[in-house]
Amino acid sequence: MYSKIVILNFPPVVAQKALVCQLTKKYDLIFNILSAKISNKKEGYMVIELTSGSKAAFNKGVKYLKDQGVSVSYPEHQIYKDEEICTHCGSCIAVCPTDALYIKRPEMEIIFNKDKCSVCELCILTCPTRAMGLFSTQKAVA
Ligand code: SF4
Ligand code: SF4
Repeated sequence: MYSKIVILNFPPVVAQKALVCQLTKKYDLIFNILSAKISNKKEGYMVIELTSGSKAAFNKGVKYLKDQGVSVSYPEHQIYKDEEICTHCGSCIAVCPTDALYIKRPEMEIIFNKDKCSVCELCILTCPTRAMGLFSTQKAVA
């Protein structure tokens, strides 16, 4: 099983097409939409968790999107958690939509799994100690 959070930017000409649904039909990929918006200029923005049986199938799906004119990038390392500042208060868990932040029991520690992070930034707004932060290292998919 191969799974990754992917950021998609759709130009206006393809923003209304159901391209993401084709990932399931054509490549047997599973997608979970974490965030989706359309701008005033009719450009689409979507963050999905994309899962496939193999990395090869995943890459085929990504290539399909790019061939349709969709800009594809990974949110790798954009969000970080400063372990020295975190007080493990748990406030961020309540707002995290992807369970990238979760509680480890019985230690009662708040753990950050960056592989599940959709970079929604809600934890940054919520964290009282500013332990959650943002890197600007979004990578375009080659
Ligand atoms: S809200 Fe901030 S201080 Fe509280 S557990 Fe989350 S990262 Fe740590
Ligand atoms: S940015 Fe924060 S709240 Fe949003 S998915 Fe990532 S860890 Fe969760």
